[in-house]
Amino acid sequence: MDKKKILLIGTGGTIASEMGENGLAPELTSEQLLKYIPDLSEICRISCLQLFSLDSTNIQPKHWARIAGAIRERYREYDGFVVAHGTDTMAYTAAGLSYLVQGSPKPIVLTGAQKPIGFETTDSKQNLRDAVTVAVSDMAGVMLVFNGKIIQGTRARKTRSKSFEAFSSINYPLLGMVQDGRIIRYIRPEARAVPQFYDTVNPRVALMKLIPGADCGTAAYLLKRNDALIIESFGVGGLPTYKAGDYYDTVKAGLEAGKIVVMTTQVENEGSDLAVYHVGSSIKRDLPILEAYDMTTEAVCAKLMWILGQTTDRKWVEELFYTPVACDILAGK
Ligand code: ASP
Repeated sequence: MDKKKILLIGTGGTIASEMGENGLAPELTSEQLLKYIPDLSEICRISCLQLFSLDSTNIQPKHWARIAGAIRERYREYDGFVVAHGTDTMAYTAAGLSYLVQGSPKPIVLTGAQKPIGFETTDSKQNLRDAVTVAVSDMAGVMLVFNGKIIQGTRARKTRSKSFEAFSSINYPLLGMVQDGRIIRYIRPEARAVPQFYDTVNPRVALMKLIPGADCGTAAYLLKRNDALIIESFGVGGLPTYKAGDYYDTVKAGLEAGKIVVMTTQVENEGSDLAVYHVGSSIKRDLPILEAYDMTTEAVCAKLMWILGQTTDRKWVEELFYTPVACDILAGK
């Protein structure tokens, strides 16, 4: 049987970094990455595409659209795609691609590393090998593969800044593991016969994390400058009421000006449930806000950017927000 055809897309990140005078910077192309693991040619035929060479701190929603566009243009030619990416914003890109390329029957795998590929101790080679192993498999859709874990693209979060065990799957089980070159599958992601591609994102989405005593002027400012505001509140969710009407009125004014407001939680696991406490139930009952439930903040950001790239109609925005895409939301309204 013919070996599968894989496209390795380079975007930068630590995996491709070299040490310079001012620290690590992405220098290596995807072709140069491949030279470190020549044995990959035993399991597939790999072609390379270098889209950009960025520390992922500099990756923006427009770059997600470029990656999605590159995959779209070459979708027929390849059996699977591997995107080598910086770890810092990889969870956002994984979520972004999950919305821009929906229902892909072919695997689209993001990976990267905590240590550059040229270092003596590095996770780069193993992560790339594992990513290619998933890319030649019959796993479907956008996934993040790191330290042996296979994570649904909408569920990934960077939870460790230094160790190899850098990513977790939030509020959703792992799709599987890669061990010694073999996939142990826990879940088979759903796919369509053909993927649906999108190419527009609206980056005018802001995120505000509440802290005790936070001034609601920040929320007003962010609402003025953006089309949507995500408020990461406490616990299962709510807005401060210590100054009567303060947050409530700010959010109400934003909504009346046509902005979208999503309430979520800064607690990593188990999600929001605004109905539980008075501080949440009154805004949920009285205002047309949206609630993230079990979605990750990364997925909420990316989903809003995708939705607002398609429509500004509030009803349609709400409909799309609560419609599950790539298992991003389990709990419902
Ligand atoms: N700063 C790097 C990046 O995100 C970190 C990494 O790749 O691990 O591009």
